Amino acid sequence: MSALKRNEAQLRAQLLDVHHYAVTLDLTGDDETFDSTTRIRFTARTSGDTFVELKPDTLRSATLDGNPLDPAALEDNRLPLTGLTQGPHELHLDTRMRYSRTGEGLHRFTDPADGQTYVYSQMFLDDVQRVFPAFDQPDLKAVFEFTVTAPAHWTVLANGITTRLADRDTDGAGIWQSAPTPVISTYLAAVAAGPWHSVTTEHAGLPFGIHCRQSLAAHLDADADEILSITKACFDRYQVKFTEPYPFDSYDQAFVPEFNAGAMENPGLVTFRDEFIYRSAVTDTERQSRAMVIAHEMAHMWFGDLVTLAWFDDIWLNESFAEYMGYQTLTEATRFTDTWTDFGVTRKPWGYDADQRPSTHP
Ligand SMILES: [Zn+2]
Repeated sequence: MSALKRNEAQLRAQLLDVHHYAVTLDLTGDDETFDSTTRIRFTARTSGDTFVELKPDTLRSATLDGNPLDPAALEDNRLPLTGLTQGPHELHLDTRMRYSRTGEGLHRFTDPADGQTYVYSQMFLDDVQRVFPAFDQPDLKAVFEFTVTAPAHWTVLANGITTRLADRDTDGAGIWQSAPTPVISTYLAAVAAGPWHSVTTEHAGLPFGIHCRQSLAAHLDADADEILSITKACFDRYQVKFTEPYPFDSYDQAFVPEFNAGAMENPGLVTFRDEFIYRSAVTDTERQSRAMVIAHEMAHMWFGDLVTLAWFDDIWLNESFAEYMGYQTLTEATRFTDTWTDFGVTRKPWGYDADQRPSTHP
């Protein structure tokens, strides 16, 4: 796989203005793969050559402005788009993609506790290509809409509010449509589907939800008041701190199985490792740590999601700001008023340690 280089991204950003992704996923197939068809609308500022990235199991077909492209031209993860003319274009790609079990792309998990299956996306850094084709760089932002077909008893979550449409005639499978996002980076698109256990409410005129797999339902319910009250308190505090209103249409927090990191700041659909749904007695420090992650990810809604780095060498600024805002907001808005002690004891030595290594960087 050839990773995108910064100079390639800069050249492509000079050429393209990307507008809209309409992504259709069918999650009712086999255990290994899913169907993914995508329409991308974009404009070329001048004539030129470029490419779109994808890592499919099978590229069935591709058309540019209605003209077929040769699927065999896909080399590594790049499908060339040559001889683009100046002006608007529409690219259609029909693919079969592979689920992962590594937390990259669309992760599929079957719960040994009850046999229920869940899938969720993790697109950072460049794993969106495992789910649908994209001009995959953070500064080529676009509107994203998902249409997802899934088993009838599932719930589908996405960045934007999802609506269940009429069921599929042939087998009664459910079809969900997500509201279009504001323009966001490719690595921030998100979908989570499964028979989630959900606790939902409304706050500041927006739908808020917390979600986990069914086998953890009792543990989520036990802490739902705490999680939601911290979420609301931080949300209200950020609304005061930032002049800009909350940029998205909903705030879902999904606690998902086998997650590689702590959490991911997908706009309107934050994913957390479901170890944060505590299954036994925990210390108050652990509760504070969970609250801190909630506050950190929410800070990203503004810094990271609304305002985004042009390239990943500025990720340190993304994370520093979310970290600073998270600790500060937790102290100001919740019962965890001594969070800077935790920062000094746990986070700062981590930074000092990293800074003494040959690999140190901003
Ligand atoms: Zn972060």
